[in-house]
Amino acid sequence: MAYCDNCGQEVKEQASFCENCGQEIGGKMKLYVKVYFTPGGPDPLKVAEEMEDIGFEAVIGEYDFARSFGDLSEYGKIVKQLKKTLRGRSLEGSGIYFRLNTLKTS
Ligand SMILES: [Zn+2]
Repeated sequence: MAYCDNCGQEVKEQASFCENCGQEIGGKMKLYVKVYFTPGGPDPLKVAEEMEDIGFEAVIGEYDFARSFGDLSEYGKIVKQLKKTLRGRSLEGSGIYFRLNTLKTS
C-alpha cells in the first residue's frame, strides 16, 4: 500500500495524485496524453471514464490526462493498456488520436 508524501493519506497503487491533498504520487516520470476529438467522435466524458479506468487522471493545461510511473517496464505496460483502451471497447471507430510525452518531474 502506498502513502502520500505530503499528508500521509493512504493512496491507491495506480494513483497519480493524492485524493486528499492533491499531491503528486509515485513515479519519477509522468506520462502525458492529449486526446483529439473529431465531429461525430465519442463523448469526451466517456473517454475520461475510460482513461480513469486505466489509472489516468484528467489534468488541466496543455495535456488532457496524466499518469505517473516508476520505470520503463511500467511505462511499456501503460502504453500498451492505453492503446488497447483507445482502440477498443466503447471507443471503437472513434476519431481519437493520442500523443505521448514523458516529462521528468522534479
Ligand atoms: Zn496527500
